Amino acid sequence: MTPLEFDAHHLWHPYTNVADPGAMHLIDRAEGVYLYREDGAKMIDAMSSWWCAIHGHKHPEITSAMQSQLEKMPHVMFGGLTHHPAIDLGRRMVDMLPEGLDRIFYCDSGSVSVEVSMKMAVQYQMAHGRTRKFEFATIRGGYHGDTWKAMSVCDPVTGMHGLFRGALSIQHFLPRPQVRLGDDWPEDPALNGLEALERLLADKGNHLAALILEPVVQGAGGMYFYHPQWLRAARAMCDAYDVLIIFDEIATGFGRTGKLFAADHAGITPDIMCLGKALTGGHISFAATVTSKQVAYGIGNSEAGVFMHGPTYMANPLACAAGSASLRLLAEGDWQRQVADIEDQMRTELEPARGLPGVADVRVLGAIGVVEMKESVDPSVAHRLAPETGVWLRPFARNIYCMPPYIVSPDELGRITSAMVALAGGQQ
Ligand SMILES: *Cc1c(COP(=O)(O)O)cnc(C)c1O
Repeated sequence: MTPLEFDAHHLWHPYTNVADPGAMHLIDRAEGVYLYREDGAKMIDAMSSWWCAIHGHKHPEITSAMQSQLEKMPHVMFGGLTHHPAIDLGRRMVDMLPEGLDRIFYCDSGSVSVEVSMKMAVQYQMAHGRTRKFEFATIRGGYHGDTWKAMSVCDPVTGMHGLFRGALSIQHFLPRPQVRLGDDWPEDPALNGLEALERLLADKGNHLAALILEPVVQGAGGMYFYHPQWLRAARAMCDAYDVLIIFDEIATGFGRTGKLFAADHAGITPDIMCLGKALTGGHISFAATVTSKQVAYGIGNSEAGVFMHGPTYMANPLACAAGSASLRLLAEGDWQRQVADIEDQMRTELEPARGLPGVADVRVLGAIGVVEMKESVDPSVAHRLAPETGVWLRPFARNIYCMPPYIVSPDELGRITSAMVALAGGQQ
């Protein structure tokens, strides 16, 4: 069997039918914005490998931080032990995070950080004697990961609710905030969507531990951008019902939307925030759930006396070293200019797609560019074209989108936007 044949027969890929996995590119090297196929074909990674590789692949400062850590200590348990990589990363995070969020729980992946955030919310409520507050509210169109509890707050239609009918706990879904980012904010609560939230809080407030959502940008649920005023209002309304707010910033954190965190568009601080993806600059799986002193101390007063979670590989030193190096690059680099330039160029170069017959919408925010089609897009077309166009795109549902590394050059970005417009126009 060739390596590709072995892969097709034995290895599971994301959201794939093992009996019919479809074509694969065999990548054996990645550097900067480029992925190199084993046969030498090279493609710009317009996806930043699922939105993580913000500084490009194999960044020398990140890999050397990981290498020196590897020489010293790949891993030790975090129970009763601590280490410099965890402390250094913690310091960097506290410096960067919105004021008030300074208690950090390290975990292995984005989905786990969502599980952790939901457990924190429930334990916090229990500590305050609110023993019935263990349900969650969210908005439609969200995506929060593939593990069990995270899945229960993903969009009920595009998520896996249909498939796992009856097996998932029932949560409370509000309509997706219909006022888009950039549109005028109507004060009428029937028009701005807050009426539904007020009604839910009045009916179920006593049962809600938290409202969990992706602030401003919904990623895998449809690349949808909504008005931050919804979040500002929701903050005040949830406070009145002792409902915590969890921001899932796994996709939006660390500059992707043009602000360091999407929460900054709204100018509010959630009670709990989930971070992942770009945290290690795409070098190794890692995530964190961060909260305030008030929530953390509240949990400490619960019946258990401690927060009941502790992954085996918690605060893995290699991942912490990668995270520190990635955040140092952000802190010392020019990401704001880079992201603003990417945004400007995409606005200009994706605009022509708006006139194409199959296109429903074109939208850009920060280093996120989206061409939304009227019909769902077959990802295998983009897959087949990639070695030819030199651009790796992986559309989903009706969206042809890119989230390039911040270091992408204007010329490389031009190739990405051309490939997107060509794909939208069906020019094969
Ligand atoms: C990717 C993502 C997750 C899940 O993260 P994993 O690391 O894949 O488990 C959760 N929430 C959002 C918003 C994401 O984009």
